[in-house]
Amino acid sequence: MNDYIGRPAGRRGFLKGAAVALTVPAALSLVGGFPATAHADTSSLPDYAPVPPGALGPAVNADGYFVGNIAGNLYWATDSFYQCMFLTTLEGVVLVDAPPTIGNNLLRAIQAVTAANGRPSTVTHMIYSHSHADHIGASVLFGPDVTRIAHANTVPLLVRDADPNRPLPNVTFEDSYDLEVGGEYLRLDYHGPNHAPDNIFIYAPEYATLMAVDILFPGWVPFDYVAVSQDIPDWITAQSTIMDYPWETLVGGHLGRLGVRADGPVQIQYMADLAASVKTTYSSLDPSPYFANYGPQGNAWAIFKTFLLAVAETAAAPVIAKYTGVLAAADVYTVDNAWTVLESLRIDNGFLGPFGIHP
Ligand SMILES: [Zn+2]
Repeated sequence: MNDYIGRPAGRRGFLKGAAVALTVPAALSLVGGFPATAHADTSSLPDYAPVPPGALGPAVNADGYFVGNIAGNLYWATDSFYQCMFLTTLEGVVLVDAPPTIGNNLLRAIQAVTAANGRPSTVTHMIYSHSHADHIGASVLFGPDVTRIAHANTVPLLVRDADPNRPLPNVTFEDSYDLEVGGEYLRLDYHGPNHAPDNIFIYAPEYATLMAVDILFPGWVPFDYVAVSQDIPDWITAQSTIMDYPWETLVGGHLGRLGVRADGPVQIQYMADLAASVKTTYSSLDPSPYFANYGPQGNAWAIFKTFLLAVAETAAAPVIAKYTGVLAAADVYTVDNAWTVLESLRIDNGFLGPFGIHP
């Protein structure tokens, strides 16, 4: 059991992981066995600011994963890129998500934990946080007899995707669902579309733990284009909805460490700062050079692309400066995030700038 930690990884755990969590072998395991046949020009890859040590999680083991106890019978697993959690009950394991990059290591993690705590190792229930393959694409490993639970909106998405690695759920719900298995309890809540139209919150009140995926990224900025989310205004709101739950531990679905409550306000402020900067920039940046350059060629798309990118880059600059060293990868993804915030400001909020109602 000495590869387990107790409560969410403490500062010591983070610092220990900082040195080794993202070693080359760990990164290679993400593409393990992938037969690369094409190679891009990598001679001018950009340099980025160092990852703050507090953003990293515990070191992975030789197999490329870490499994830890959250509280009581609730555990989590990570490969430093993705996360999932599982509850060991008197009747079997309830697994929430099965990221393919953790893949077969999830079987090893569950086996190790249940061998140690004496509870049955069979996964009897699976919960899908949402339909995306990068979070549930190893569902198939748990066989056909598992009770799979998801939001009702997940069904048509998975029917459309027809991915054999993501079997359809056989239990669905609309608003909330109480799951009781072998003396353990989880509550599933739907709060509307945000990252995806079927994204749900998985709450373990007894263990003060919430799992909500692709919304809050403890210690990091959201990945590209606001985590490729489909409803940006609702995603912004969902950050606060997460904080409305009285959790002490957040399983965010990504990266190497668990979330603590202090992570919430930092990301919420980052997104607010970005929105404010985008709004100011879009109100003031002169679009005429872009029209002058591409207008004569009739290249409308070139005008949109270059002007909106200029807005995103200009708006991102002060936010990158403020959050470098605070949130990991602020310099990697803030321009992309600014671009998405800008497009949402335009098409959702009707803040159209030079593309508003013609005089
Ligand atoms: Zn997703």
